[in-house]
Amino acid sequence: MIAKQCVLDKGFVRLIDQMGSDRRVVEAVRVSTGTVSDDPERDRKLIHFLIEHGHGTPFEKVVFEFHVKCPLFVARQWFRHRIGSFNERSARYRRFDEEYFVPDFSTLPEGYTADDLAAYNEALHHAYATYERLVAKASGGPEQRARAREVWRGLLGTSFYTEFFWTVNLRSLMNFLKLRMHPTAQYEIRQYAEAIAAMTREAVPISYEAFERFVLSREAGSI
Ligand SMILES: Cc1cc2nc3c(=O)[nH]c(=O)nc-3n(C[C@H](O)[C@H](O)[C@H](O)COP(=O)(O)OP(=O)(O)OC[C@H]3O[C@@H](n4cnc5c(N)ncnc54)[C@H](O)[C@@H]3O)c2cc1C
Repeated sequence: MIAKQCVLDKGFVRLIDQMGSDRRVVEAVRVSTGTVSDDPERDRKLIHFLIEHGHGTPFEKVVFEFHVKCPLFVARQWFRHRIGSFNERSARYRRFDEEYFVPDFSTLPEGYTADDLAAYNEALHHAYATYERLVAKASGGPEQRARAREVWRGLLGTSFYTEFFWTVNLRSLMNFLKLRMHPTAQYEIRQYAEAIAAMTREAVPISYEAFERFVLSREAGSI
């Protein structure tokens, strides 16, 4: 099982917990009829039927907890997914490190040079140095130092790395993957979605197989 995958230059996704599996999806459906099945092929067909016909609630019985480290601009896109629960690192109680995302040269449009990346690094380094200097200047007790950290973080750009825990059920996760693995989604969040997809495929192989067949491969599919 994939427990952790590095993403971008300094980020990662860690699968830290899972409740339920493909089996739980089937059990959730069969509770209504009071039947049990010991035929894996029938279970597989049932899961495919559910996804094909948009019966989403049985997939809400499977829940994942991920630990994600990503640039702030990726987190901002991620947090738009309201069906799920987030706990993010604090900028008040923790000082930011000088850790920001540097794009992979090969993903940039043509025409950019190493000088352009150097200018990007220089601007971010300067912003961080100012943040560090102003935070260090705070006098007084812990509350004043916390206030300094929370206000001067405004200097840091959205490429600085943040961390959060994300609790999400399989139905909402599939919606996230459908939207964020799409070629129109930003390259950087797509890298995270691909990492999460690989973990999901291992965790719930039959559900993922059906999701690929009926949702990912069809523009108009839904879950
Ligand atoms: C490529 C791309 C570009 C984007 N560009 C922009 C942009 O320019 N500006 C911008 O603001 N956003 C943008 N978004 C964000 C997008 O509009 C969604 O907010 C985001 O993808 C979350 O999707 P969601 O609402 O399906 O997910 P969730 O919030 O997790 O919701 C899951 C599902 O629950 C249901 N649901 C949730 N809340 C409600 C509700 N209040 N009422 C009814 N049904 C609900 C819906 O069926 C929804 O699909 C972009 C997203 C993508 C993938």
